[in-house]
Amino acid sequence: MKFLIIGSGGREHAIAWKLNNEDNVNKIYCAPGNAGISEIAECLNIDDNDIENLLQFAKKEQIDLTIVGPEIPLVNGIVDEFEKEGLKVFGPNKECSQLEGSKAFSKEFMIRHNIPTAKYKEYTNLDKAISEIDSFGYPVVIKADGLAAGKGVVIPQNREEAIVTLKEMMSDKKFGSAGDKIVVEEFLKGIETSILAFVDNDTIVPMVSAKDHKKIYNHEQGPNTGGMGTFSPSEIYTEELSKDIQEKVLNKTLEGFKKDGLNYKGILFVGLMITEHGAKVLEYNVRFGDPETQSVLFRLETDLHKIMEVILENRLKDIDINYKKEEAVCVILTSGGYPESYEKGKVISGLDNLDKDIVVFHSGTKMLDNNLVTNGGRVLGITAKASSVEDAAKKVYENIKRIDFEGMHYRNDIGIEI
Ligand code: AMP
Repeated sequence: MKFLIIGSGGREHAIAWKLNNEDNVNKIYCAPGNAGISEIAECLNIDDNDIENLLQFAKKEQIDLTIVGPEIPLVNGIVDEFEKEGLKVFGPNKECSQLEGSKAFSKEFMIRHNIPTAKYKEYTNLDKAISEIDSFGYPVVIKADGLAAGKGVVIPQNREEAIVTLKEMMSDKKFGSAGDKIVVEEFLKGIETSILAFVDNDTIVPMVSAKDHKKIYNHEQGPNTGGMGTFSPSEIYTEELSKDIQEKVLNKTLEGFKKDGLNYKGILFVGLMITEHGAKVLEYNVRFGDPETQSVLFRLETDLHKIMEVILENRLKDIDINYKKEEAVCVILTSGGYPESYEKGKVISGLDNLDKDIVVFHSGTKMLDNNLVTNGGRVLGITAKASSVEDAAKKVYENIKRIDFEGMHYRNDIGIEI
């Protein structure tokens, strides 16, 4: 089979790595990919949102299955365009992708189907939002409705900050049209977690749990990032919690899809807050999370392409999905200065010197004059498995000592302080 993976980050590298270890996989293309992906796949000079050229390529090369990594092409309807041409593509269609593309759409879906979530209201008028903002109490959660590269959620601590945020989003257009509509939510206290699931029209199957770390510094300090590391399984995901989430969140979400006539097929990521009143949904993403995917696919034993095929045929219930018993840790190395401004093009050394069982998923890298160099904020995901998260973390940190690039930063506590 020939595959085309769309995207260029660690998540896409993990998907390519998994496929590359499976039978029946003859050729993998990735658009646009990165230096790490190019070791196992042929990278294409096509932007991940250039739907027309991706489609032409898939037709010309008779790709058997296209796998969409990031949310933007999904929200822009890549799946519908491929399906119109009779091409097999893995991911939810444009209508379903609004669950991530519009906060208001996803909140309305949750309320309509009795899925536990924070109380909220939508606003398109700034004055109205300001006049009602006190009623939510403080802190308050303000979300731009549309996609804002993970930056569209702000949690002001008081009225003054809230008014600044509302004005930035609604009149100064800090996030462009993503802020034409906003969602204001009550602030939920609790422990944050998430779960990834495989979904087709009849079945929703959670993957093994993973814990991610969003803050740039140890002990959850500093600004939010795209993700600084993950481990799997997550210690808070007990059997009891998992049963609760299956019944009150996952099954109800599937029922909601059926009732609304949404033909959801693909991956669903559910962001959750475990409050004193149980689990509540913070958000849905319509694709694999990054870097959760790196830890989870690292443990997946069943062939990923087979799972994707049965999903497309609505036969997910017929397949057994197995994971390795070993536990996994992935630690992200970032460019100095990330998540604010950072330089690119720093030469990366030491990757030849790692233990054989370490897997390095590239996020932002490229080749320049025969050197591997940094090409993004998140650069590499150093990944290991062992009989426990603690041992996997030890392996990862021992190997990170051998890697170097100017300004390299990482957290020291992923999988260590559980
Ligand atoms: P979202 O993109 O909606 O998941 O929001 C991004 C982050 O904001 C989440 O990962 C949480 O840390 C935080 N957040 C979102 N909604 C709430 C809420 N209602 N209460 C507390 N924190 C929230």
